[in-house]
Amino acid sequence: PTLTSSNKPYSRWSEKQSKVLGDIAEEFTLSTSQLEHLTTAFIDQMQAGLAGDQKSTDLAMISTFVSGRPDGHERGSYLALDLGGTNLRVCLITLKGNNDFETNSKAFKVSDHLQEAHISELMDFIAISIKEFITSEHISAKIVEHPSDSDTLELGFTFSFPVTQTAIDAGMLLRWTKGFNCPGAVGNDIVQLLQEALNRNKINVHVAALVNDTVGTLLAHSYKHPNTFIGAIFGTGTNGAYVEDTRGIKSMKNPTTDEMIINIEWGNYDKDKRFLPVTLFDNKLDRESINPGVHVFEKMISGMYLGEITRNILLHLIDHRLLFDGTSSAKLNQHWSFETKYMSQIENDTTATLIPIAQILEQDLGIYLNTQVDREIVKFVCQLVGKRAARLSAMATAAVIRRGLSVEGRLAGHGYPLKLSEGDRAFGSVHESTDSTIDHSLQPIHVGIDGSVFEHYPHFEERMVEGLTELLGSRAKDIVALGIARDGSGVGAALAALIATKNVVQSP
Ligand code: BGC
Ligand code: MG
Repeated sequence: PTLTSSNKPYSRWSEKQSKVLGDIAEEFTLSTSQLEHLTTAFIDQMQAGLAGDQKSTDLAMISTFVSGRPDGHERGSYLALDLGGTNLRVCLITLKGNNDFETNSKAFKVSDHLQEAHISELMDFIAISIKEFITSEHISAKIVEHPSDSDTLELGFTFSFPVTQTAIDAGMLLRWTKGFNCPGAVGNDIVQLLQEALNRNKINVHVAALVNDTVGTLLAHSYKHPNTFIGAIFGTGTNGAYVEDTRGIKSMKNPTTDEMIINIEWGNYDKDKRFLPVTLFDNKLDRESINPGVHVFEKMISGMYLGEITRNILLHLIDHRLLFDGTSSAKLNQHWSFETKYMSQIENDTTATLIPIAQILEQDLGIYLNTQVDREIVKFVCQLVGKRAARLSAMATAAVIRRGLSVEGRLAGHGYPLKLSEGDRAFGSVHESTDSTIDHSLQPIHVGIDGSVFEHYPHFEERMVEGLTELLGSRAKDIVALGIARDGSGVGAALAALIATKNVVQSP
C-alpha cells in the first residue's frame, strides 16, 4: 500500500517512494492479532520445552538449579564475572543486607580475535583479568573487611550464552551466539574450563556458580524488589528467565524445591520461521550471520542486529534509486557498518530539517549527498525496525507473564501475585473481559531488565508498554512493573555465588 498521509513528510515523497516504503511498512508493522498469535505459539513452545519435548520447540527452557530468590537481607562479598558482549567485567560485589549493594568493577575489552579464538585462550584471558583485578584493587584485603563464610575467594560467573545446566556450578555450552565462536567450548563444561584456567594460572579463586545474564538480572532485581519474577535482557542479544513452579517442569523428576528459575533462551524462538513475520531483509541478515538458522527472533530484536536490518533496507532503497539518488558509500556497503546506536541518534532527531541525521550520514557513513527527503526516509526506516523490535519484546514478556498467571496454586500463594479464577482458559489471555479475575490488592509483578536497547533506544520502553497493554489488557501497567536492573549481571552472579556456597540450593 502507498503511504497516503497528506501531512509531512510523505507529501514530499515521490509516488514510487511512498509505494515502496508503504509496502515495507506493512511488512514491519505487527497488528495486535499478529502479536496475539505469536504469544500463543510462544506459550505452547514454553510448555513443550518444560515437558522436555525438545523436538517440538525452539525454546530450550533450561533448568538453572537456582531455586529461591534473594529478598535483600543477604550479606557478604563475592567476586563476580560478567561475560557476554564486547567487555568482560570483573567485579567485587558487597551485599550490604538492606536491599543495597556496592559494586567495584573493572572492564576488559574482549578483542575480535578473542571472540573467535580457542576457548582455552579466552579462559586464560579471563583468568589473567581476574588476577589483575584482584591485585590492583587489593581485593583480598577488602574481602577480609566484609568476609563471606569461606576462606577462598568465591566467584559467581555470569555467562550470557545458552548453557544446559546440571547443577548451579556445572553446565555445557549449547551454542555460541552474538558473534562469539570459540572452538573447543560447545558441549563442554564452562565452569570446568574456567576453573582449569584459574588453576593453570595459579589463581586462588573458586568458581561457585554459573548463571545466565537473565538469571543474574532476575536475582539482582529481586534483591531490591522481592516481587520479581522475570529477568530480561534487551541488549546486544535478548533473552528472558522467570520463576517456574517445579511441578510445571515435567522433565524434572522428584523436585526437592517448590520453585526454580528457568532460562528460556527466547532468542531462539521460532527458528524455523513458522510464525515470525520475517522479511527479505531479516533473511539476508540471518544468512550472512555467523550463526545462520538459529536465534532468528533475537536477530529481529537485539542491538547486535537492528542496525544491520536497517542497512539492508537502505541498500534496497538505494538500489531502487529511491534514496541518496541511487548512490551508496564504501562504508554503508560494509557488513555491520550501520550500528544500532546510529538508529538511536536518528530516532532522537526531532528537528524540522534533520540536520543531525545529515551529520551521521556524512561523518559516520560517508554519504555526503543527502536531501531532507532522504533523511526523512532514513528516520522512517529506523522507526519501523525499532518499533517492531519493541513490540516483539513485549510479546515475549507478555507470554511469560501469561504463563505465570496460568501456573496454578502454589506459586500464587507466596509469589505470583495473580490468579485466574477456576475455569479460565489455561493459557487464556487477560483481556478486559477477564480483568475481573485479577486480585488488585496484590503487588505487581516486577520485571528486572538490563541491556543497551532497553536503556538507550528512544521510545523502546514506551512502545513495549503499548504492546503489553494490547496483550495483557488495559491494566497491564498495574500488573507489570518494568524496571531497569542496571549491571544486574554482576550483582546477580554474586548472589548466585552466595546461594551456592551457603547451600541454599540442592540439586533435585
Ligand atoms: C544468549 C542468551 C543471553 C542473551 C542476552 C543470547 O544471545 O543466547 O544466553 O541471555 O543473548 O545476553
Ligand atoms: Mg550484559
